Amino acid sequence: MGTGKVPRRFEGKVAIVTASTQGIGFGIAERLGLEGASVVISSRKQKNVDEAVEKLRARGIEVLAIVCHVSNAQQRKNLIDKTVQKYGRIDIVVSNAAANPSIDPILQTEDSILDKLWEINVKASILLLKDAAPHLQKGSSVVIISSITAYDPPASMAMYGVTKTALLGLTKALAAELAPNTRVNCIAPGFIPTKFASFLTSNESIRNELVSKTLLNRLGTPEDIAAATALFASDDASYITGETLVVAGGMPSRL
Ligand code: NAP
Repeated sequence: MGTGKVPRRFEGKVAIVTASTQGIGFGIAERLGLEGASVVISSRKQKNVDEAVEKLRARGIEVLAIVCHVSNAQQRKNLIDKTVQKYGRIDIVVSNAAANPSIDPILQTEDSILDKLWEINVKASILLLKDAAPHLQKGSSVVIISSITAYDPPASMAMYGVTKTALLGLTKALAAELAPNTRVNCIAPGFIPTKFASFLTSNESIRNELVSKTLLNRLGTPEDIAAATALFASDDASYITGETLVVAGGMPSRL
């Protein structure tokens, strides 16, 4: 975030954000931290974890940093255990990790790739929340990161898009299961030029085409997604659960 006035909605709260050493996850961890949360960041590579923790601490944020590949059961359990050992509670979980390993049409996607997409994009969120659930406080909040592609999976990201569609249903179902103590909501970002999306956004003509689909005439930023995630995570959204917010500059999604 810039130097503008930042609210302090998360004083005394503990937030876990998965896949949070770069891009959208890092932006979310930074925003929650600047608003007073103790943040638990993680990703697959120690080096990325070390670099991210330094950047966040330099901004005065309280951080616990742990290596966690979201499809590794032991590492997921360790993430929750270490968080509870250090802070004794969990108030916010942001499930942000995803993979997009193929541009093949769905019917030509390898069996093993179908498994990987399901494992990382959907199942790992469920299993992480299963481990976290006993520690979620009254008034806690889960935010799942889906994608605008959930609504109309594009040809080059078709099966990825379908896993993101599944997250919209998962949000509804978990909101019912975890009510009334924990709210569960979802963010569907538009196109954000991160490493993950660089196969699209670094190509000038694709980039221009994506921009032209927005009403606000630009791609999004991690800060745009972080601001919306912080809204859902905060008590400002205390009467909102089971919902998905599209944060895509007005790109077509749904009525
Ligand atoms: P990104 O900038 O490439 O960052 C990905 C982060 O996730 C890195 O910190 C990476 O660190 C970590 N990571 C990757 N695989 C992981 C795994 N299996 N387990 C744990 N950490 C992992 O990606 P992003 O664009 O911010 O994407 C974040 C989320 O936003 C994803 O769910 C994506 O589907 C969604 N999204 C993105 C866009 C977009 O346009 N960028 C649009 C809609 C939705 P390591 O390499 O150290 O693991």
